Amino acid sequence: MRIPPNHPRAASLIIRERLVEAYRQGIVAPEGLLAHGRGEAFDYLLGERTIPEAESAIEAAAALLLLAARPVISVNGNACALAAEELVKLSKVTGARLEVNLFYRTRQREEAIARRLKEAGAEEVYGVGEQASATIPELSSERRRVDPRGILAADVVLVPLEDGDRTEALRRLGKQVIAIDLNPLSRTARMATVTIVDNIVRALPRLVQACATLRTLGREELASRVSSFNNERNLRAALARILEGLRRLAGEEDGGEG
Ligand code: ATP
Ligand code: MG
Repeated sequence: MRIPPNHPRAASLIIRERLVEAYRQGIVAPEGLLAHGRGEAFDYLLGERTIPEAESAIEAAAALLLLAARPVISVNGNACALAAEELVKLSKVTGARLEVNLFYRTRQREEAIARRLKEAGAEEVYGVGEQASATIPELSSERRRVDPRGILAADVVLVPLEDGDRTEALRRLGKQVIAIDLNPLSRTARMATVTIVDNIVRALPRLVQACATLRTLGREELASRVSSFNNERNLRAALARILEGLRRLAGEEDGGEG
């Protein structure tokens, strides 16, 4: 499929094609395509850009990752399809392990994702096959399976495009969770320690950059970046920004009766 480069929404269409291609390669589950469509709708509401609230969340997330003793990046099909290279870069700059963690687990998909991450430069990928031998309590079936050397032992877990239930289960296990989710209303967004309301495609390069920059700071300075961040307040500010944008588009900016 060829997308005309002068199409007004070419970037978004190219991303969509990348996902469809990854679906054909067995990396993305059919349900992943639906999740992407939901994300696209929220991206419209954000103006398809990284909002200032996402920038502050990215800084807090970078500090949290740099402070972590055992950080893990949880990788699903969509994240792998959209950002394999950046996920590997992030794992290198923070020392975080990469773990395949799927809602719809099949051995084939696990292996396809691990292969793609290795092509992108990953040395080791956790959570494939029998390696995912531990379980998270209170989650059903395949979704509970994690790697005892990865997510189970982690103190900080980055979950791009995760499901609300899993995020909640990770929090209950005492883990700090960083979510990347375009939907500020999702349970994932509300349950996470730090939620980056942004497209993974835009957020990850910024997160890699923030980690590289903040790396020179001492632990106390990093800790203060984390403690000054309030996720609930940040999500409310993101919603207010969406609302403000909609009001402007609806022609109410001069504060009429509203
Ligand atoms: P929850 O269970 O957390 O309430 P959900 O059922 O909508 O929410 P899932 O389908 O489990 O969530 O996960 C997909 C989430 O990922 C959606 O909230 C969607 O907005 C988001 N999403 C999809 N594509 C992207 C993307 N490219 N970047 C960031 N977020 C995305
Ligand atoms: Mg869900």
